[in-house]
Formats: sequence, structure tokens, C-alpha cells
Amino acid sequence: MFIGLHELELHPVRFKVEIPAGQIEYDSKLTQASDLRAEGTAQLLNHSLGEIRVQGRLNVTVEATCDRCLEPARFPIENKFDLVYMPASTTNAGGEAEIDEAGVEVGYYEGNGLTLNDVLREVVLLAIPMQLVCSEECKGICPVCGQNRNQRECGCHEEAFDDRWSKLKTFRAELGPHN
Ligand SMILES: [Zn+2]
Ligand SMILES: [Zn+2]
Repeated sequence: MFIGLHELELHPVRFKVEIPAGQIEYDSKLTQASDLRAEGTAQLLNHSLGEIRVQGRLNVTVEATCDRCLEPARFPIENKFDLVYMPASTTNAGGEAEIDEAGVEVGYYEGNGLTLNDVLREVVLLAIPMQLVCSEECKGICPVCGQNRNQRECGCHEEAFDDRWSKLKTFRAELGPHN
């Protein structure tokens, strides 16, 4: 769906979409694992500056690789969003965007409007957590043998742990009886 400036000059544009997986390209480590549902409104904030504000809510499940165990994991996203887009051409002349509202993300568009899918991609990328883990309890991969410790305890991490303790004990012994 394309949200054109000409239409926005007449009235706010409402949208309600259901986008199947595969239509929006995210970054390389993220894929869409459910339909993406979004609804909201786009409106011109200031006719002379061409600022477009897009507000709404979005609902989707994405799949990414867990940062700890490297297995695929699903992340449901249910998010309200509020983005402001400025025409790319005004940014050079006007310097920093004059939008002080806290929590509003500012993006840029070129030409005579916005593609809704681009907006929704940005909302998803902003909503995913910095660290993607399949669960808080994920034990990750053994640094020694590479075993996924959620599937099987390999046992070798305990040796490494013991080793660290024995070094510390030696160190403390060297410090003498005052410690
Ligand atoms: Zn994991
Ligand atoms: Zn191991």
C-alpha cells in the first residue's frame, strides 16, 4: 500500500492490512513467521514541511536465531507505534529535525509519499529486543565442545569452571596467610 502526499493533503489515510510472510524483507537474521496485522492512520503534520505521522498498532511473530544457542526461536511482537517521516530533501537544508516529542521515531521518505510496508518493516525492527534469546532459561552452547546445553549436558563446562576455582585457590595461597 502506498500512502501518497496528494491524498494526505486532502484527509488522513487509514490503513488496515494483513501481510503474509515473504512480502516484507527484514534484515538477514529475521524472518516473518505469521501474518503481519497492522492498522492505524497516516496524516500530514505540517503541510509546508511535508511531515507525515504514522500511528497505529502492529501484531506479528518473527523468527530469528537465538543469540545463545543458535537455534531458531520465535518472537511475538505486539506493538503500538508512532513514527514521523520527513521528506529526505529538507534534511540537508533544515539541519536537525525539529521534533521534540519524546518517544517519537523520525524517519525519512523520498518522492511523493510512503510505502506502508517500509513503515511496518521499521516498526518491527525497532520492536525486536537487542538480545534475542529463545528463553530466559536458555543455557546456550558449551564454549568447550559446542554442545547445545538445552538438549544435553555435556559436562565439560564444569571442568572449566573447576579449573578457574583451583587457579583462584592457588592465587590466594600465594598471597599468604593474611588473606
Ligand atoms: Zn537459546
Ligand atoms: Zn561441552
